[in-house]
Amino acid sequence: MAPIQNECDYLMLGIGSGGIASARRAVTHGAQGHASFDWSYFKSKRDVYVKRLNRIYANNLGNDEIEHIQGRASFLNKREVEVKLEDGSKQTIKAKKILIATGGRPTIPAIPGKELFIDSDGFHDLERQLKKVAVSGVEMSEMLHALGSDVRFFIRGEKLLRRFDPMIQDTVMKEDERQGVHLHKGSQTKKPLSRLTAYFLAVGRLPEVEDLALEKVGIKLNGKGHIIIDNYQNTNVENIYAIGDVCDRGFELTPMTIAASRRLSERLFGEAHEKYGNTVKVCKTEFTAAYYAMMEQGEKGPTAYKIVCEGTTE
Ligand SMILES: Cc1cc2nc3c(=O)[nH]c(=O)nc-3n(C[C@H](O)[C@H](O)[C@H](O)COP(=O)(O)OP(=O)(O)OC[C@H]3O[C@@H](n4cnc5c(N)ncnc54)[C@H](O)[C@@H]3O)c2cc1C
Repeated sequence: MAPIQNECDYLMLGIGSGGIASARRAVTHGAQGHASFDWSYFKSKRDVYVKRLNRIYANNLGNDEIEHIQGRASFLNKREVEVKLEDGSKQTIKAKKILIATGGRPTIPAIPGKELFIDSDGFHDLERQLKKVAVSGVEMSEMLHALGSDVRFFIRGEKLLRRFDPMIQDTVMKEDERQGVHLHKGSQTKKPLSRLTAYFLAVGRLPEVEDLALEKVGIKLNGKGHIIIDNYQNTNVENIYAIGDVCDRGFELTPMTIAASRRLSERLFGEAHEKYGNTVKVCKTEFTAAYYAMMEQGEKGPTAYKIVCEGTTE
């Protein structure tokens, strides 16, 4: 590994959607820093795809001359972070500005048989298709059903997606029932049901703050453990920012995190707006949609978007 600088302008803790977007935008401004479904075939193709993505992201960081340290980070003080590397050694890094972008992790409530449940991370480790499965969680139920499992979907109330508009609730629920997902309304998950093959709980995520030693810098958290920020990603500690799923204003959506991350880096390191103004902006992107991930290269269709935005209505 190339020698790592131990002092930098901008240090990202976590390189998921938020960390990468903010880092890459910052460097542009000069900062350093479903037929018969074959599960095992599907899994192997997906694993290869994810590895390829990891390589692409690592290459992109390298191309932008962003140093990447693989390890778990924790604060020593307001300006210094210690990273435990994979080989067990530790490295201390100083930074003028620090972004916390450590995301979240799935949570399973403390109920009897807790260890028997599978969460969304566990789904990705499954080596074989599950024949019969109990699920709490809309996306996971629909996906497992579409992949051919016999799904029993347990919901607490009479309707799913309880925070959504009633029209969306009714439409999704009707469609789930039409497609053959067995809905069990008004049920509380108190323990796993023993006669079923597997039990999925995808009922929420917790912010990933455990390893960060935030108490050493006095960063304030809300009642659910999310980092409290203002409209501009500032935490209560000067020069420490938080973005994405770890903070109290995250939307748990990739595009929102990426957009907020880029804006943060524009604010912290950008000068283009001041110099040239920003009345018309054309946003363009061309990519291969994840929908085609399992297909051979020649079978994948292109996706292209262009958005033209003007002034304050952007
Ligand atoms: C199963 C699932 C499906 C989803 N589907 C969608 C979807 O269809 N559309 C959508 O828009 N969003 C979706 N999301 C949400 C989306 O993935 C998140 O909102 C987004 O990734 C948040 O970005 P982030 O940068 O905050 O965190 P993440 O992308 O989670 O990145 C956090 C990174 O920080 C690392 N990290 C954590 N702690 C430390 C530490 N102490 N030191 C160093 N590194 C650390 C983690 O390993 C990770 O790499 C989905 C999420 C899940 C779990």
